[in-house]
Order: sequence, then C-alpha cells, then structure tokens
Amino acid sequence: MIKLVRPRLPSELESSLLRLTQELAGTPIADRSEHSDRMWDRKTVRRDVYAPVKDVLEAMAPGLDCCMYCGNHMADTVDHFVPKSRCSLRTFHWPNLLLACSTCNSRFKRDQHKGDGLVGSLLVDPARDDPIEHLDLGLDSGMYRAVEGSKKGQWTIDVCGLNAGKRPRARERAWRSLGGDLKDWARARDEGRPDDMSYYIWRMRDQPFADVCYAALHKAVSADADAIFIDVAPRIVALLRDEELRASLLQ
Ligand SMILES: [Zn+2]
Repeated sequence: MIKLVRPRLPSELESSLLRLTQELAGTPIADRSEHSDRMWDRKTVRRDVYAPVKDVLEAMAPGLDCCMYCGNHMADTVDHFVPKSRCSLRTFHWPNLLLACSTCNSRFKRDQHKGDGLVGSLLVDPARDDPIEHLDLGLDSGMYRAVEGSKKGQWTIDVCGLNAGKRPRARERAWRSLGGDLKDWARARDEGRPDDMSYYIWRMRDQPFADVCYAALHKAVSADADAIFIDVAPRIVALLRDEELRASLLQ
C-alpha cells in the first residue's frame, strides 16, 4: 500500500457529488441505503460522476490503474472506503472513494468495516494515513505484516486479503524485476542515454505491485537498512539511495 495525496476535484464534479449527497440526505432514513444503491447505478451518475471520479483516482496512484489496497494493477472499480451499506451518506463523499481491483472490492473487503473505537476506521486509508506506520512489506517474501502494535495494520491485511493467493509471489517477482531495472537505469545514466533512463523509471513506477518499489525506497534509508539488505548486492542498495533516482521515482 502506498501513501497517496488526494487532489481537489474539478468544481463541477465536486458540485455534482454534493447535489447527490443532498438528494440522499432528503430521503427517509429507512430508505436511504436502498436509494443510495439505485443512485450509484443510475445511468447518468455512471456517465457524469462515476467515470470522471474514476479518472481522477487513476491519476492519483502510481502504476497502471493501481489498486489502492493490494497494489495490483488493472484496478477497475470505485470502492467505498466505508461501505455504503454502513453509511449511505458517504456514497458520494469524495474522501470516501478509492480505486480498487475487483478482488479487493468484491471478494475480500465487501461491506466489512470496523472502527477502532477512538479515531474511526480500523482500515488503513492510503489517502489519509501513512501506510508505512501500519504495514511492513517483506521484500523477499512479498508478505505484508502489521507494524508491531498496529491493529489497523493487521485488520487491513486480513480484510483486504493482502497476503492471499499469489499476491506475495507477485510482489517477490516485482522485487526481483526492480533489481534488474535499477541496474539498467544506472547503465543508461553511465552511457548518457536519458530516454532509456526515463523508460526504466516508467517501468519501475508502472509495474504491477509498485508498492514493492516504494517499500524498497523507504527501507533503503531506514535506520535498520543494513540488516534488512544484508543479502542484497551493495550496488542495488546504493542505487535505492541514489538521490537522482529517488527524485525521479518519488516526484
Ligand atoms: Zn486490490
């Protein structure tokens, strides 16, 4: 999971979302949940609201249509962070909308939601929380584990199935492929090939499970980096710390 910055929506789209929320607020409470489902599926809402919101969400995350929960590419749904069955008034609330793959949205997360009793959701919101404070990604295993003491981290792993199926193996491959891209990028720099350097930056940013790349960049400058990268070629670690490379990937 990667920390994201949620942009302001174009004012027309923001007004459309507000109007829909007002329409929902005017519906009797007993009918609100059912009405929100109907509104969400309304043809004009799909065309004039859902599609442009999805476009903004797609541009928010690095990678190609990166799922904001699991990091896989080809995320194809707008997900309600707090499910609309739990709070229908948030159906059209911009801060409640994230881009998700169908597996995270419909197979794992569904309408599950838990509060921590203090500050709200137990699910890590990548556009509000810093996922690194709750989730630690093992580069060699491709497995997420909760940062010690983070209930949010553990619940996010469980409810989004972050370690389910082939996801860890896919992240492990992404880590191996990142090493190759780093070396190719350095070679292109040494040989003065800026177009190729841009190409490798694009590959690293847009690969499926781009969360691996961001976890590696974070770990390379962390206090326990020497222990984490003990089995990794020093050249790879040096490249992960290279200021030019970091500036290109973290811009
Ligand atoms: Zn996903």
